[in-house]
Amino acid sequence: MPELPEVEVLVRHLAPLLRGRTIRAVQVHRAKVLAPTSMRGFKQALLGAKFSGLTRRGKYLLFTLGPAKRAEPRTLVGHLGMTGRMYLLPVKARLPRHAAVVLNLGRRNFVFEDTRYFGRLTLDTRSLEGLGPEPLGAEFTVEQFAGALARSAQAIKVKLLDQSLVAGVGNIYASEALFRAGVAPTRAARSLRPAQVARLWRAIREVLSDAIACGSTVPLNYAGEGARDGLFYFGRAAGAPDYYEERLRVYDRAGEPCPVCGGAIKRLVQAARSTYYCPRCQRG
Ligand SMILES: [Zn+2]
Repeated sequence: MPELPEVEVLVRHLAPLLRGRTIRAVQVHRAKVLAPTSMRGFKQALLGAKFSGLTRRGKYLLFTLGPAKRAEPRTLVGHLGMTGRMYLLPVKARLPRHAAVVLNLGRRNFVFEDTRYFGRLTLDTRSLEGLGPEPLGAEFTVEQFAGALARSAQAIKVKLLDQSLVAGVGNIYASEALFRAGVAPTRAARSLRPAQVARLWRAIREVLSDAIACGSTVPLNYAGEGARDGLFYFGRAAGAPDYYEERLRVYDRAGEPCPVCGGAIKRLVQAARSTYYCPRCQRG
């Protein structure tokens, strides 16, 4: 499932391709992904609008649409859900079977493809309202992080997935950050000592920055329906040599040796999600 680094890499890739492009036609094949925006409202707002900017907030893509006619600039909110992909295709290329929304930009189409339709492309911005600070931004400080953890009795791994604590950390990078910080995933958030909170704060920023740096070197290749492009982590494909996955130290590695101590990595289920950890390295 794409988390903050994957979305950031996608934003950096798409931003220059979209900037200044005018939407000449709008096709919606799955109205569900627009919800709660209606198909009619979506088409009205997008037709003739120009992409003027693309940024990221947490795991959301924020497309700025320049004014169509005399309307105000609008924000189009994108979320990849579990299996969503966004990319440009030449107009002559065949559309993928699960194309949910297709925006014609002239010689190329912007395609939002989603096999499971959990993603979103909507004019509704309410999902951004409850988001906590950006983990790589200046507002995410050790003091703020410590204060938020001190108010929570939840297991630290579960608490890290709370998007109001810090935006964009998901299941993969929560496990990775806890491993780097040497913190047991089952510890109550409020029981962490100040030194552990500081290590975890730093580890979150490091795992995300490293993943963005790594993802920025991966050539995005969308050729071939359903083919992996090396960027998004959707689970390990059997026998697939994928160095982008290999950078993950504990995630999806149950039974494999810990890269630090050589002991076996364990898996446990917390709040219905898998956690991967090293019981020896994460005793704190
Ligand atoms: Zn270990």
